[in-house]
Amino acid sequence: MIFEHLDTTGHEQIVFCHNKDVGLKAIIAIHNTVLGPALGGTRMWPYESEQDALNDVLRLSRGMTYKNAVAGLNIGGGKAVIIGDPATDKSEGLFRAFGQFVESLGGRYITAEDVGIDVNDMEFVYRETQYVTGVHQVHGGSGDPSPFTAYGTLQGLLASLNRKFGNEEVGNYSYAVQGLGHVGIEFVKLLKERGAKIFVTDINKERVERAVSEYGAEAVGLDEIYDVDADVYSPCALGGTVNEKTLPRLKAKIICGAANNQLANNAIGDEVEQRGILYAPDYAVNAGGVMNVSLEIDGYNRERAMRMMRTIYHNLTRIFEIAERDGIPTYRAADRLAEERIETIGKLKLPLGRAAPRFQGRVRGA
Ligand code: NAD
Repeated sequence: MIFEHLDTTGHEQIVFCHNKDVGLKAIIAIHNTVLGPALGGTRMWPYESEQDALNDVLRLSRGMTYKNAVAGLNIGGGKAVIIGDPATDKSEGLFRAFGQFVESLGGRYITAEDVGIDVNDMEFVYRETQYVTGVHQVHGGSGDPSPFTAYGTLQGLLASLNRKFGNEEVGNYSYAVQGLGHVGIEFVKLLKERGAKIFVTDINKERVERAVSEYGAEAVGLDEIYDVDADVYSPCALGGTVNEKTLPRLKAKIICGAANNQLANNAIGDEVEQRGILYAPDYAVNAGGVMNVSLEIDGYNRERAMRMMRTIYHNLTRIFEIAERDGIPTYRAADRLAEERIETIGKLKLPLGRAAPRFQGRVRGA
């Protein structure tokens, strides 16, 4: 059953990690290491069944292969899940035992934070393995990736404006920003600096007030965000917000935001295209976070990180070109770009060690 499934998803290796003493039940999924070691976060979640956990890690690790490939990184795709409740089941022993499993893979998988995991948990993982990113800045970590993700989203927006309107004048257009969390509020700030008209919404009233008072945004209701007369709809909260109910209401000509999995399904992606709305594929736009942590592998450098974010502009431009070349919607073109890159770069056979993690500038166990 499992191998049959892996035949269709193309995974290389699945590792089941178990330590009874500390209550660790985790699965590490390495999807593809053609471009380099598999990088992807660890999620801690109280899955209802082991099958749910397996399904989730298989889906997420495959997504990382595509995201890392489109981002232009020499990094493959992987992910890990720990079965447990982040509110009650965390312990030093659990994370250290997990770290030992990561270490045992010798660098084929590099972990990072994801839902349910924070930098303190990563500190324990780091005691047992060097193959971890997203650790504290004192260990050469990169800290909060959100400002980078927001800046990367701006690069995606510039490429989208150019494609749709033939110019990159952010201030000439209006924006509906949904979600004012770590990324959303930074994105609003960048838009404001460029003189844009901005509509905002969030379930958190304080965040809305901040966007209004600090950045002159116009607050609208949670559901109203789909009806405002804005040129760009920017989902920066949850996934699945472009769906059968919301799409007919959108007046935007571009969808470009930081949220993961914005399209409810592929059929919606096709309909977005048919309606003449330019969709900037989410995982290409929001790659700033993974680009940022990937730089920890060679020794983190903030300036290099900012420069790297600008490549998101070119990645988006390439996706739009592929969409036109092949007559396909942009969400499919993003996948195609990833597959083409894995195919061609994989054939170059990078010399051994070139793509291997070096983790310079880190003092292990410090
Ligand atoms: P966050 O949790 O800090 O912010 C999310 C915000 O959305 C919160 O303010 C929350 O109140 C708001 N929200 C939730 N439901 C809402 C709703 N129905 N309507 C309006 N607002 C709602 O998260 P974040 O780090 O800012 O990330 C935002 C999105 O970007 C997520 O989808 C995340 O997966 C994705 N992303 C983030 C990063 C990063 O660097 N932080 C990187 C890649 C992708």
